[in-house]
Amino acid sequence: LSEKLELAWKKLRGQDKITETNIQEALREVRRALLDADVNLQVVKRFIEEVREAALGSEVIMGVNPDQQFIKIVHDELVKVMGDANVPIAQASTPPTIILMAGLQGSGKTTTCAKLALYLRKQGKKPLMVAGDIYRPAAIDQLKTLGQQIQIPVFDLGKTDPVEIARQGVEAARQQGCDYVILDTAGRLQIDLEMMAELERVKATVQPHEILLVVDAMIGQEAANLTQAFHERLGITGAILTKLDGDTRGGAALSIRQVSGQPIKFIGVGEKVEALDPFYPDRMASRILGMGDILSLVEKAQEEIDLGDAASMAEKMMTAQFDFTDFLKQMRMIKRMGSLGGLLRLMPGMGKISDDQLQKGQDQLARAEAMINSMTPEERKNPDLLARSVSRKRRVANGSGHKLEDVSRLVSDFQRMRDMMRNMGMGGGFPGMGGLGG
Ligand code: GDP
Ligand code: MG
Repeated sequence: LSEKLELAWKKLRGQDKITETNIQEALREVRRALLDADVNLQVVKRFIEEVREAALGSEVIMGVNPDQQFIKIVHDELVKVMGDANVPIAQASTPPTIILMAGLQGSGKTTTCAKLALYLRKQGKKPLMVAGDIYRPAAIDQLKTLGQQIQIPVFDLGKTDPVEIARQGVEAARQQGCDYVILDTAGRLQIDLEMMAELERVKATVQPHEILLVVDAMIGQEAANLTQAFHERLGITGAILTKLDGDTRGGAALSIRQVSGQPIKFIGVGEKVEALDPFYPDRMASRILGMGDILSLVEKAQEEIDLGDAASMAEKMMTAQFDFTDFLKQMRMIKRMGSLGGLLRLMPGMGKISDDQLQKGQDQLARAEAMINSMTPEERKNPDLLARSVSRKRRVANGSGHKLEDVSRLVSDFQRMRDMMRNMGMGGGFPGMGGLGG
């Protein structure tokens, strides 16, 4: 067992609570990740402050360092803030359910009308789309073309008053026995009063069950102001975040939710009419943090190190009972966690370990496993049998295709590790990784 690991171990044992100092680096990292994901600065500040306060003083999970654990807490909090689960589209007690689409020009309203209509029909509903954008040239045709493509009717009155179009559109839906009516509206390049006033009039006239703000994910930071403006005037009931098929990290999602308190219901993931997915907060949280790998490791550490298992192993180590079978079990546990590299990097102080060193460690583990497999059950139970007998060691060496000195080293490493563990009187945690010493 390397000295480095021993040190790391002590450090880990010392850090059993999350404190200001042991999460400093993680705080910086999370802040940077959120800003990189284009979350609005104010939103970032408020969010991190809340999480930091909530996290201080919580117990550090075995085998995970405080930094990583904090990131996990942030992730979970992100999920919570964004609404835990998907919130489905409203359904009026008396049909039709009226959905008003709002948003800036180019955000994807018209496209999303068709996507949503198709989605609803796949759920067995009967939707009608209403062409309410009379300003943009060809906007009506755009919706009609989409309607033809997916075989869903489009109501239009040409270039008349949008309020009247909406009113008659809803009436048509009622008459045709449609259970959803989706109102496309005009957008401007910027939030402007005229646009808002028109939307307000449409709202007052048809009293929609859903007012969905369509937001282009690429506007990033601006999502906060945009949401604020629309929510103040219209009282949105949800949002659809489009163009998430690009490389944006989706920070807009957090801003929208924080500012309006309303859920994101769908995401647009492409130009095609099928490219609409329900919004899942946990996926978005991982995307925003851009830390999928670290997170899954932390999660694995929590799930897969059976805490009871680790604790009983620790107990065994402190008594003389820890044997090669436990050692093997331990190694398999590590293997099950997939990347040993990732796991080692999770340990405090081990972050700078090189790929080379990692590969070496991994190879050593594989060799140790082969040697242990060649031992008899008694030898595994009682490593001292091996320590005392060269012929036994030679048999194991031959059986596993290793040299005598390899077996000797494994046995002495194992003994050293066991002794050290005993001396440390460890009270839990991730059992040592003997055999890495080499
Ligand atoms: P509107 O002005 O708000 O009605 O926006 P449109 O529906 O006309 O969409 C503007 C552009 O964005 C069109 O070229 C769409 O194809 C495109 N678009 C809409 N949603 C998505 C999406 O989720 N992903 C991608 N890649 N493009 C989208
Ligand atoms: Mg449009």
